[in-house]
Amino acid sequence: MKQIGFTTTVPIEILLAAGHQPVDLNNLFITDPHRSELVDKAEAEGFPRNICGWIKGIYSTALKAGIQEVIAVTQGDCSYTHALIELFQLLAIKVVPFAYPYDRNRGLLSAQFKSLMDCYRVGDEQVLTTKRRLDALRSKVHRIDELSWKANVVTGYENHHYQVCTTDMNRDLEAFEREVDRFLDELKMRSPFKERLRLGYIGVPPIYDAQEFYGFLESRGARVLFSEIQRQFSMPYPTSTLLDQYLCYTYPYDIFGRIEDIIHEIKIRKIDALIHYYQSFCHRQIEDIIIRRKIKLPVLSIEGDRSFLLDARTRLRIESFLEMLK
Ligand code: SF4
Repeated sequence: MKQIGFTTTVPIEILLAAGHQPVDLNNLFITDPHRSELVDKAEAEGFPRNICGWIKGIYSTALKAGIQEVIAVTQGDCSYTHALIELFQLLAIKVVPFAYPYDRNRGLLSAQFKSLMDCYRVGDEQVLTTKRRLDALRSKVHRIDELSWKANVVTGYENHHYQVCTTDMNRDLEAFEREVDRFLDELKMRSPFKERLRLGYIGVPPIYDAQEFYGFLESRGARVLFSEIQRQFSMPYPTSTLLDQYLCYTYPYDIFGRIEDIIHEIKIRKIDALIHYYQSFCHRQIEDIIIRRKIKLPVLSIEGDRSFLLDARTRLRIESFLEMLK
């Protein structure tokens, strides 16, 4: 079994079917107790200050974890990926390219799947069996999400955590499923939370400590009942083929598919306002313009850089926004 790193969601069903261990380098980085040092280390090696903190963290994390092979998403993710994978190649880390076609083209995505399946020597039947296995676990995570907005018994952080873990099934499918089962049992005993404001969180997951971030909102009377990209990671739409599953996934394609999903979810979840998070030096900041034009709800845009704790200015802006909503 090989550890295969990746920089954004890839069809892990193919890797698991081949008997490998998928490793989401984002999750490994952000849960590392020494994450700040990982960013420092990349800067010490020459990464410029004005480059996204996630990229620096991912780079150092891959080296720290001794990752020997990475699937690089060359289209549908990050504008820094090409340079990052060149650096990996320089360090003799094997790079397997994968691309999501911008226009969601079925034939092109199918060709990408075939190439990945050939690379890892797995067939359709093995992959479909693995998809069904993961679907069963994914549906439990969807249940947690549903309980967050229908029954008000899941905190914003808890929902974020379980959804984000689905990108690599927390690197241990069976252990993750046991954790999910225990959590679902625990929820049966919970009383509903009372926060009045219902928030949606859109954009990439925060670089801030997620427990602190979501907890801060709750301490000010608001709770996130919809975390857009995190929910997308969990593959929330019922599908019968792997191709359909990754064609429905909104993150790697154009912003308009994401907006359609956001509008649908804010309606059914009765969301009062949105927090749009983006990262300093990220091309996705430009999407804020489109989001504000297309979504008719109050939106607070916040920008994280390389501080893992909520800074005083961001706290103040969030507090003022929540006061204004109240
Ligand atoms: S936040 Fe933006 S710049 Fe940073 S890794 Fe993600 S897509 Fe790339």
